[in-house]
Amino acid sequence: MRATVPGSASGRASTPVGPARAALVGVLALQGDVAEHVAALERCGTHVREVRRPEGLDGLDAIVLPGGESTTIGRLLESSGLLAPLRAAIAGGLPVFATCAGLILLSDEVIDHTGTPTLGGLAVTTRRNAFGRQIASFDARLDVRDVPGGPVDVSFIRAPRIEALGSDEVEVMAELDGRPVVVRQGHITAMACHPEVAGDDRMLAAFLARLPDGPDAQAR
Ligand code: GLN
Repeated sequence: MRATVPGSASGRASTPVGPARAALVGVLALQGDVAEHVAALERCGTHVREVRRPEGLDGLDAIVLPGGESTTIGRLLESSGLLAPLRAAIAGGLPVFATCAGLILLSDEVIDHTGTPTLGGLAVTTRRNAFGRQIASFDARLDVRDVPGGPVDVSFIRAPRIEALGSDEVEVMAELDGRPVVVRQGHITAMACHPEVAGDDRMLAAFLARLPDGPDAQAR
């Protein structure tokens, strides 16, 4: 547990005075770039659990939805029994950090969708493979709101495009060529790109800092 400053009005420290409790963060490990996300979380100092079954959701402080193939992940969500409990956990406020295929799975509407199961919960319309094929993948540097230290290095790999925002609750955290590519809706942070491939951990660190026990929790 984080130590608190004696006498602080909220009973919680605004400045940590002891070691923070490392969060337990799950990585949905059905398909995709699971290893890259596990490595990024370990670099950020969290506990990490690969989640393959419904029991894996127990006790998590947050979950990462990796990039990969959203249709495959959707089918495996159903066959593993994770689809309904993960949907419920996210609807119940489990913080989520989602990249690329993860964004597709969370989107309330998907264009060019094949009818495989998705999670939903994020009020955006997303178009799969909007930037072209694998060969059209590219790296970029994004100015991300709330991420200090200059532009973040990311990769776009058969990336989806966020075509429309469906709620005032969706905040645009970064744009590319005037279009949203990183969005936040309350406890959900989702992006069309991959920061974990380039190894720039600052967006992930900003997400972790906003977890209920994290140093930036009070700033919300
Ligand atoms: N194009 C993939 C899909 O439709 C996403 C690609 C990725 O996650 N890098 O799921």
